[in-house]
Amino acid sequence: MAKLQPVRGTHDLMPTDMRRHRAVGDTARHVAGCYGFDEIATPIFEFADVFRRTLGDTTDIVTKEMYSFVDKGGEEITLRPENTAGVVRAVLSNGLLQQGPLKYFYFGPMFRYERPQKGRQRQFHQIGVELIAVPEPQGDVEVIACGWAILHALGFGDRVVLELNTLGDGESRLAYRDALVGYLRGHVGALSEDSRARLERNPLRILDSKDEGDRRIVAEAPRFDAYLTGSARDFFARVTGGLEALGLPYRLNPRLVRGLDYYCHTAFEFTTDALGAQGTVMAGGRYDGLIAEMGGPASAGVGWAAGVERLAMLLAQEPVAPRPVAVIPMGDGADAAALALADRLRRGGLRVEMAYRGNLKRRLEQANKRQARAAIILGEDEIARGAVALKDLDSGEQAEVALAELDARLARYR
Ligand code: ATP
Ligand code: MG
Repeated sequence: MAKLQPVRGTHDLMPTDMRRHRAVGDTARHVAGCYGFDEIATPIFEFADVFRRTLGDTTDIVTKEMYSFVDKGGEEITLRPENTAGVVRAVLSNGLLQQGPLKYFYFGPMFRYERPQKGRQRQFHQIGVELIAVPEPQGDVEVIACGWAILHALGFGDRVVLELNTLGDGESRLAYRDALVGYLRGHVGALSEDSRARLERNPLRILDSKDEGDRRIVAEAPRFDAYLTGSARDFFARVTGGLEALGLPYRLNPRLVRGLDYYCHTAFEFTTDALGAQGTVMAGGRYDGLIAEMGGPASAGVGWAAGVERLAMLLAQEPVAPRPVAVIPMGDGADAAALALADRLRRGGLRVEMAYRGNLKRRLEQANKRQARAAIILGEDEIARGAVALKDLDSGEQAEVALAELDARLARYR
């Protein structure tokens, strides 16, 4: 039989990986909570239209990367490639938009049919926040500050850079789009095939092309800031002013775009040079057009998403595995008492392993292999006296302890 393999681009999260994921998720959830974001979970699959309508059929995600299938009821279903659409769908399904500002945090798996490489998988995980129904630029500042605080709490605040741009309002974007398409038409012969395809349908995305030839052309392209309306300029000034008031450093990057039409105003990414080619760890922006695009009333939104695998790779410290205490029964007569003791300690919140097999030396080896901090040895004689032997496995010290005093003596191993 062929060796069983996971599907290409998917990974098992074995305990060591899982601990790193948990460290990222727990820290992010806690910090996001301090910023007022409550956790929600939406289904990992939605009607395909939820993503087609919101992501638009010119994006890479929709044209190439979606995992879609027709279910037994004939519904066209898609495994979510990202979670903003799902969160907005949930807000609309539950009729929550009237309730004023909505603040959500999420953590879960996403699916994209991409070429797997380091930091790029077909099933990966994202954490993210969405701030809905807040049109003020302070919302952008709060969302970015929350992301920054999470990266700091994870211990790599000084290894990431905040890159920032504005895409202006609808009016600015139309004007810019015309100017950009006019310029790029003059260079159409030299553009990559992908970029030529995007020229009419999604020209802003060309700014973000990774093709060398495209990049040379883009370097001379008209710049967005020349086309910003007065109010778009003012909005952006209030975002940058807010970041400055928080002492949050940023680098303006006029090439930073979100390719989707519903994005406006602020676009940002936290990038690092510590991960090679896949340097973006967190990406977000304002999406005031999205809710209307999905059939809701005109409303505002701003948020970001971050790749958990990439964040987990950056974690400098291996999260420590909790160390147990081992319970070692010696002799058949001690087994029942040992089980009962282990059960009682576990109910009290202690991590307890049982060593069942072999002589005392073997059982102590098993305890050490499980990284136990201490072993509680139950011999039939000790049980008769109402006592156990407690051995500290780091120092090697051993003493007889009365059962009545055991809990107090174990307190230091919690
Ligand atoms: P990229 O340019 O790396 O493809 P993207 O623009 O597709 O990124 P977003 O859709 O903005 O990425 O997703 C936000 C974050 O999710 C990314 O910055 C990255 O950290 C993570 N991410 C996206 N796709 C993958 C993937 N296939 N595998 C692992 N992480 C991913
Ligand atoms: Mg991508």
